[in-house]
Formats: sequence, structure tokens, C-alpha cells
Amino acid sequence: MGGGTMGLICFTPQNINEAIQYLHQYGDETTILAGGTDVLVRYYGRLDELGRIMNIYELDELKSIRIVDDEIEVGSLVTHTQLEESTIILNHAPLLAEAAAEVGSPQIRNRGTIGGNVANSSPAGDTLPPLIALDAKVKLLSLDRGERIIPVSEFFTGPGRNVAKEDELITGFVFPIPKENYRGSFVKLGYRKALAISTVNAAVMLALDGDVVEDCRIVLGAVAPTPVRVKLTEEILKGNPITDQILESAMNQLVQEISPISDLRGSSKYRLNMAKVLVVRAIHNIFKKGGRTQ
Ligand SMILES: Cc1cc2nc3c(=O)[nH]c(=O)nc-3n(C[C@H](O)[C@H](O)[C@H](O)COP(=O)(O)OP(=O)(O)OC[C@H]3O[C@@H](n4cnc5c(N)ncnc54)[C@H](O)[C@@H]3O)c2cc1C
Repeated sequence: MGGGTMGLICFTPQNINEAIQYLHQYGDETTILAGGTDVLVRYYGRLDELGRIMNIYELDELKSIRIVDDEIEVGSLVTHTQLEESTIILNHAPLLAEAAAEVGSPQIRNRGTIGGNVANSSPAGDTLPPLIALDAKVKLLSLDRGERIIPVSEFFTGPGRNVAKEDELITGFVFPIPKENYRGSFVKLGYRKALAISTVNAAVMLALDGDVVEDCRIVLGAVAPTPVRVKLTEEILKGNPITDQILESAMNQLVQEISPISDLRGSSKYRLNMAKVLVVRAIHNIFKKGGRTQ
């Protein structure tokens, strides 16, 4: 495990029950380790500062993507590569596959998990906007409170912060299978094609009746401390065909609903402009291809 591991206690649970029992006892001093692509990089050479690690990466129960009734369940240890290649995700939630395909590099995607991406709660996390656009819920499990199921849209409280408690394990995500007329697209702007954290990213879901927008969900990442669903912008699109005029008034509204910061990846003004470009691009993608499924 690299240097600086003297005094580090590492526990590997054999099943979910053992995992939540361990968190019940040591949650306040334990770091959960999934793929490790965030944790091991952040603590490289100083892992002993973590005190206790619980390595959940071997918990096969958390590695599947399944259809259960009219919902899709994604285990928290599902990797980005799995999302990218899953027929279920490609057929029903292609924007999530598109987002996973944009994460890091093949090595990072093979190792990094959706649960880790969400728990890490970076405003730039690529799977966050599509999960919110899909109306996904996150499943949390603890010994004391059993299962809590929370909309992903209510999970984040700030950069790196969320409502999960120290004794809770994210076991997975669940979202309704989008109806036939829903189409989705994810678009990301980074410094380069691979290995780039999003400067801005956007997930759009549109339900179309002919060329009229019956319903829509637009979620942006890296433009505020948490992912932002721009509901007033959505209202402008709903009930209308997508024309240049409608798009222009929607994009004028969009910039009122986000508050990007300036940092090394881009200024606030640049992000505001690119947020508009990305959302328009995602909408065009949907009309052009009908989403990734076609
Ligand atoms: C070179 C590089 C490039 C990257 N590029 C991108 C990118 O383009 N887009 C992007 O979004 N991210 C990117 N990342 C970040 C990272 O790869 C992702 O966030 C990844 O999904 C994290 O998953 P993991 O399983 O490796 O998490 P880990 O590092 O194991 O854990 C991350 C956090 O989540 C917690 N955690 C993990 N699983 C659970 C669980 N089941 N329950 C509760 N808490 C849990 C951990 O305690 C930790 O706080 C990149 C990272 C690197 C090193």
C-alpha cells in the first residue's frame, strides 16, 4: 500500500453485514476504501494518517447492475468500465454510460466505482449530473438505522460533503427505467480529451412528443458547490419545440441559476458561457442521435 503505512489498520469485510458492523463500531475513525482512485491518490505516502481503512472492494454483492421491476439498480462497487459497457445502462440510461466513459483513463475507469465517485462528492464528479437527471436515489445502510434511501439531488451538501453518516455504507443507486420517449445526453468540457477533471459538465434528459419537449431535466456539474438542477430553465423548454428563440431564452435563464467559481480550470465567466454551450450541445446530441441508443 505505498509508504507510510505503519500503524494503519486495514479491515476487509467478507460481507455487507460485517462491513456495517465495523462501521457501527469504528465509523468515526474509518475511511472506506473502494477502488482507491481518490483515497490512495489523496493520501499517497501518508496512508497511516488515515488510522483505519475498511477495504470493501471484494464485496461482490455490490458489483451488479440489475433490472428489478421497473427500476434499475446499480451496486456501489460498479466500476465506470462496467457502466460504460453494460447493455442495461446503454439501452436505458445512455447518458450515464457516456459520463462513465469520460472518467479519467481506462485504468481509472477499471478501478474507480460509482459509489466512490458519489461519496467523494466533488462538484466536478462526472456521474453525479446523470444520476440526478435520471432521478436516481442513493441507498445507505447502517446497523442502527437500517436502509435509508435518499434522492441523489439531496445527497450533496458542499464540495466533498454529503449527508451520509460515519456509520453508513453506500450500497447502491436505484432509478426508474426512463419511459420510451425519454432521451439523454452527457457532455463534458475538460482541458484535454482524457485524464481531465471537468471544467463544466452537463446531463440532459428530454421527453419528446414529436419535436415538443414534454418533460426535461437539466443538471450541471462544476458550476456551484454541488451539482445543480436548473428547474426554471427546464420550465422554459417544457411544452415547446426547440427553436433558436426558445433555446436563447432558456440559456439566459440558465446563467441565473448557477454560480460558478473561478479556479485553475476556468474563470467564473468562462464557466457560465461554457455551461450554456454544453447544454445546447447536449440537446443537439439528443435530436441528432436520439441519444446513444440509436
Ligand atoms: C488520474 C485520475 C483521473 C480522474 N478522473 C476523473 C474524472 O474524469 N471524472 C471524475 O468524476 N473523477 C475522476 N477521478 C476521481 C476518481 O477516479 C472517481 O471519483 C472514482 O469514481 C472514485 O471511485 P473509487 O472507487 O476509486 O473511490 P475511493 O477512492 O475508494 O473512495 C472515494 C471516497 O468515497 C468513499 N467511499 C467509496 N465507496 C464508498 C461506499 N460504498 N460507501 C461510502 N463511502 C464510500 C471513500 O471513503 C472516499 O472518501 C480521477 C482520479 C484520478 C486519480
